[in-house]
Amino acid sequence: MKISLSDGSLVQVSISKKTMKNIRLRVCRDGRVCVSAPYGTAESRIYEFVNSKKGWIESHIRNFQKAENTNTVQFLGSEYSFEVVKDRRTGVALNGNSITVFCTDPEKHKEVVESWWKQQAAETFAGYVDKWYPLVCGDDGRKPVVKVRKMQTLWGSCTSKERTIRLNYYLMCASAECIEYVVLHELIHLVHPNHGPEFRAFLVEHMPDWKERKTKLEQECSGLRMV
Ligand SMILES: [Zn+2]
Repeated sequence: MKISLSDGSLVQVSISKKTMKNIRLRVCRDGRVCVSAPYGTAESRIYEFVNSKKGWIESHIRNFQKAENTNTVQFLGSEYSFEVVKDRRTGVALNGNSITVFCTDPEKHKEVVESWWKQQAAETFAGYVDKWYPLVCGDDGRKPVVKVRKMQTLWGSCTSKERTIRLNYYLMCASAECIEYVVLHELIHLVHPNHGPEFRAFLVEHMPDWKERKTKLEQECSGLRMV
């Protein structure tokens, strides 16, 4: 299925049928538009739905395109200018509001940035895990394994059985307090797998401003540039 945007360009929409209640729409960072619909939904109903969301789709695509063309990057909630410099050294320097990537082969700067970013993420996430873990789990010595993953739809996930927490690589775009909220949220899942009353009570008690942090995270990270 294809839809036309206000500038006349056509966008391919891929449709998948699943066991679910409502039709869901997603614009990926690479500009793909994906719709999932419950089994048995008529094509005309899906078409109607997608058409009614055209404005939303368009603004998301524009945001991604805009981000693609600017040399800035969002890191820990602030905007940084981003520059690649050919150099004998390989590394990333963070100065004031600019990030400079040094590499022998500028074509390969992405790999350099990614490994630096991943390391920053691992250190930041570990700091918050160390801070909150004893409070959430008491003297249970089985500290969770934290993995940094590129994820399209989740900021974090927790497999309590395996005591593994996965945190989104792109979470590093957000402000520190938003990252802290996601880390605490996932840590609580080690004890309370669902978002039931006990989960909420713990969150409210220990992070009374969690809602503001969550809202800030959504605002800061909608349609941003992912390096
Ligand atoms: Zn959750």
